[in-house]
Amino acid sequence: MATKPFASSADTDAKQQTLEVLADGVYAQTAEGDPNLGAVEGEDFLVCFEALATPVAARRWLDRLREHTDKPVRYLVLSHYHAVRVLGASAFDAEVVVAHEATRDLIVERGKQDWESEYGRMGRLFEEPESIPGLTWPTLTFSDRLTIDLGGDRGDLVLQHCGRGHTAGDLVAWLPRQRILFAGDLVESQAALYTGDAFHREWAGGTLDRIAGLGAELLVGGRGAVARGPEQVQAAIEQTRGFLSTMIREVGAVHERGGSLKEAFAAAHTALAPQYGAWPIFEHCLPFDVARLWDELGGTDWPVIWTAQRDREVWDQLQG
Ligand SMILES: [Zn+2]
Repeated sequence: MATKPFASSADTDAKQQTLEVLADGVYAQTAEGDPNLGAVEGEDFLVCFEALATPVAARRWLDRLREHTDKPVRYLVLSHYHAVRVLGASAFDAEVVVAHEATRDLIVERGKQDWESEYGRMGRLFEEPESIPGLTWPTLTFSDRLTIDLGGDRGDLVLQHCGRGHTAGDLVAWLPRQRILFAGDLVESQAALYTGDAFHREWAGGTLDRIAGLGAELLVGGRGAVARGPEQVQAAIEQTRGFLSTMIREVGAVHERGGSLKEAFAAAHTALAPQYGAWPIFEHCLPFDVARLWDELGGTDWPVIWTAQRDREVWDQLQG
């Protein structure tokens, strides 16, 4: 295998960002495999979902959103703690910043290291990085479920933790009346999975089962196109599960027979590449994904913190 450039460091082409109106007062921005965003109008306020990597990047999304609504942002909802999803938060001027309680714990424990790690891995997403005022802190956390009454006859927005998955503290945003789900990085639609902080078996099992059980008819994943209609929604969920199950099977078999991490990486790569190899961030993510699963299989429940230095070591060992 030829030496590959580190993570997404060679990916410098800007992606097309598209605002899509999913229903009356419900918006998403997709970006050809870059992180997606969402927004839901309440009667006299806005709920925004995800915040991008910097305030400058987030402001571009807000400008686009302002062509549709000028309501103030009452809630900024963070699906999980990853830097490219949260560090743009200050641009929203939100009254309340909502996250799962484990997300708050993760920011306390490793927010700084994650910022440096993600900046090194995908610098392109950190537009004008000096505009970031510091770590993003949630001001409202919950453990299971939080319901926001949107007012008038708009119904509810339900923020729900479906179990551990992409991280320990993922939440999804669910509009039961419109049957629209913002799934964060728990579901990817034709984009590779990042599982470096994941709980693979729980994610592939009960967590995705609970997400499928919601019965969404429109699903916005963490990256990739909006899944429209029950068939596409199910396909996105099962594609995510398939990626995880393949990893668990391949890496598990190498672990079981006492093989090496490098062998596990090769086995996972060979098994996943035909279906997933051409999807965004596949080569970037896989070394970190396999390293985390390897730790998990060895009995390490809580993910080891990724630092800029550990990123390079794992990369050089597996992709170098
Ligand atoms: Zn993430």
